[in-house]
Amino acid sequence: MRAVKLRKDGSYTVVPRMSQGRINAEQLLAIYSVVQEHNLPGVRLTAGQRLMLDGIPAEVLEAVVEKIGPVGDVYRHKVQACLGTAGCKLAMQDSMSLAEKLEEHIKDFVLPTKLKSSVSGCSMCCAESMIRDVGLIGRKTGWTVSFGGNGGKRVRRGDILAEDVSSQEAFDIIGKALAFYAEHAKVKERTARFVERVSVDAVKKAVLGK
Ligand code: SF4
Repeated sequence: MRAVKLRKDGSYTVVPRMSQGRINAEQLLAIYSVVQEHNLPGVRLTAGQRLMLDGIPAEVLEAVVEKIGPVGDVYRHKVQACLGTAGCKLAMQDSMSLAEKLEEHIKDFVLPTKLKSSVSGCSMCCAESMIRDVGLIGRKTGWTVSFGGNGGKRVRRGDILAEDVSSQEAFDIIGKALAFYAEHAKVKERTARFVERVSVDAVKKAVLGK
């Protein structure tokens, strides 16, 4: 499981489960207590809105995981979100709620490799939705759906599959895009490279029928 990683020095790194970067008091206390009890050397934030506990000795790994509860990649396909209408004055849509639903919607897809998704509450795109495999961007009139973005070594802006759609329509489009990707992608081929190989038109035809 990627959320528990063996490091070069023989210690472990654990990522507690934090859906859309949220954490409650109980989880915070559990993390605090394992860090203090085992004198763990590092807690840091990842780029994906999660906390990471570093330098966990092998002999206490089981106790740490048991105490902090589910770890990050229980859901393999993680979804980021900006604050949206939960607290941003520029927000056009409720990005946090939609991200939570999207996570549920895509969690059972069997895909060639990991999938990064992101939901932004307006076109400022603070959750970097255009450079995620699946991106949603809120507008007054609905959601923009992007597919095939990547922020890694070869940056790629995602292709817009639909604009001004409802959340249900967006989920239907995402489901079809992922089904097409699952069927035709090579092992470990990320969506950005997949779209480049098969063409945007092929993806649009499979998803939108045009
Ligand atoms: S994307 Fe828009 S709604 Fe989300 S945090 Fe940025 S400005 Fe606010």
